[in-house]
Amino acid sequence: METAEIARRFLAFFEKNGHTVVPSASLIAEDPTLLLVPAGMVPFKPYFLGQRTPPHATATSVQKCIRTKDIEEVGKTSRHATFFQMLGNFSFGDYFKERAIPLAWELVTTPVEEGGFGIDPERLWVTVYLDDDEAAEIWRDKVGVRPERIQRMGKEENYWDMGVPGPCGPCSEIFYDRGPEYGAEGGPEADENRYIEIWNLVFMQYERGEGSGKDYPILGELPKKNIDTGLGLERLAAVLQGVDNIYETDIIGRVLHRAAELTGTRYGDDEQQDVMLRVVADHVRSAVMLVGDGVRPGNEKAGYVLRRILRRSIRNLRLLSGTDASFLHELTEVSIDAMKDIYPDLLDKAQVIFGVIDTEEKNFADTLRSGTALFNRAAERTRAAGGSTFSGADAFQLHDTYGFPIDLTLEMAAEQGLQVDEDAFTELMTRQKETAKRDAKAKKLGNADISVYARLLDTSGATEFLGYTDHEGEARVL
Ligand code: ATP
Ligand code: MG
Ligand code: MG
Ligand code: MG
Repeated sequence: METAEIARRFLAFFEKNGHTVVPSASLIAEDPTLLLVPAGMVPFKPYFLGQRTPPHATATSVQKCIRTKDIEEVGKTSRHATFFQMLGNFSFGDYFKERAIPLAWELVTTPVEEGGFGIDPERLWVTVYLDDDEAAEIWRDKVGVRPERIQRMGKEENYWDMGVPGPCGPCSEIFYDRGPEYGAEGGPEADENRYIEIWNLVFMQYERGEGSGKDYPILGELPKKNIDTGLGLERLAAVLQGVDNIYETDIIGRVLHRAAELTGTRYGDDEQQDVMLRVVADHVRSAVMLVGDGVRPGNEKAGYVLRRILRRSIRNLRLLSGTDASFLHELTEVSIDAMKDIYPDLLDKAQVIFGVIDTEEKNFADTLRSGTALFNRAAERTRAAGGSTFSGADAFQLHDTYGFPIDLTLEMAAEQGLQVDEDAFTELMTRQKETAKRDAKAKKLGNADISVYARLLDTSGATEFLGYTDHEGEARVL
C-alpha cells in the first residue's frame, strides 16, 4: 500500500468514526517553547492545556514532524527519520481509553478490502504502563489480545508528560513483529529492532506537580481526560510494503535509489555506504519540507537544523561518490516529485526550494574549502606534536568561524585517525553561551530589549519540549 493511500485511509477511518479532519500545521511551531513540531499533538496543545476551547470534541490529522534529536539514529536503525509524518486521532475530553484502544486495533487489523491495514494480529504486541490495569484489561477483554502479548513498561517508555506541571498519564503502544530473522523472541521488551513500535496511544489522565525528569507528584485526576495518539506513517508504510526499513519505502526509497545511481554506488553492497545513502535520502527530504515551510539556512534555531541537515547530505554525497560533484539539485527534484501527491504545494514552491538549496550548497563548498585548510593545519600540528587528539579549541574555532558542525569535525578527524577533545569543545561552547546569556541579561536590564531575551531563552534551553522527545542533540551543536 502506498504511503499516500495509508494516510488517506487513516483519515477516512477516523472521519467515519466522527472525527474532524484537521490539516497539518506548518513544521515551524507556533508554540514559542519549540523550534519545530516533533509530534502530531503540538498544534492541539492549547486544547489539552485548557488555554483554548476546541472547535470539535475529536480530531484526526497527518502532521508533518521533525525530530532533530533522532539525527544520529538515521540510517542506522530501521525506523528513525528526521522528517516524518505522524497520523493521529485526538479526543479533547470526549472518549478515553475504552474507545481509543479498540479503534486503533480495528483500523490496524481490518482487512485491506474493508478499508483497514490488514495486519495479521499474530504479528502484533502491545505494551501498557506498569500499573495501568485499566488499559491492560481493555486490550485483553474487549479487544481479545492474548495476555502474553501484553507487556508492562516503565516510566521511560510508557509515561507521558510535558516536562512541566500539567497533564500527564500512561501510554500504551502497538508493536509489529518483523520476524525471527530480525532478532530474538520475547516481545518489545526484549528487542526493539525485531518488534518495531508503530503506534503510541497517550492517555492524558492525571495532573502532575513540580519535579525533575519523571520524578513528580500526581496531584489528582484531570477533570477532562484526553486522548492523543501518534502512528508513524513511514513505519507503517515499511510494514505494509514489506521492506526492511523506512528509507526503502515508496517515497524515501526513490531518493535513496537515485542517490546510489548518481554516486556510482550500489545499495546493499556495503553497510557503511548503505547508511550514508539512507542519511542522504532522509536528509534531502527533510530539507525540502523545511524550506517548503519557510525555514532558511542559518546559524541558529531552525535555520541551523536545516543547515546541518543539508551539510550532512552534501558531505555524505561527496564521500559516496569520491568527488565534489553536485547531486543535491537532482535529488531535490526527485524528492519533490515523490512527495507532490501528498503535498501539492511543493510544486508551487519548487523554484524557491531549488534556489535555497543550491545557494546553501555553494556556501558550504566555500566553507569546506577554507575550513578544511584550517582543519588540515591543526591536524598537522597535532601529529607533529606526537598527539592523536584534535584540540577542543580548534574544533571550536572551526565551528565558530567556519560553521563546521561538530559532527563534521569528528568525521574528518576520524578519517585521519584522530580523536577530538569533545569535552573541551563542549566546555568552550558552554562558556560562549554563558557569556551571551550574561550580555543579553545586562542588555535586557538596561533597555528591555525583548528580541535579545527571546534569543537568550532559546539558547538557554527553553526550546526543550519534553512531551515526546527532548532536544539534547540540538543542544550539543547549537
Ligand atoms: P522510538 O522508541 O522508536 O524512538 P518513540 O517512542 O520515540 O519511537 P513516539 O514519541 O511515541 O516515538 O512517537 C509516536 C510515533 O511516531 C512512534 O510510535 C513512531 O511510529 C513514530 N516516530 C517517532 N519517532 C520517529 C522518527 N524519528 N521517524 C519516524 N517515525 C517516528
Ligand atoms: Mg518508543
Ligand atoms: Mg513511543
Ligand atoms: Mg524515539
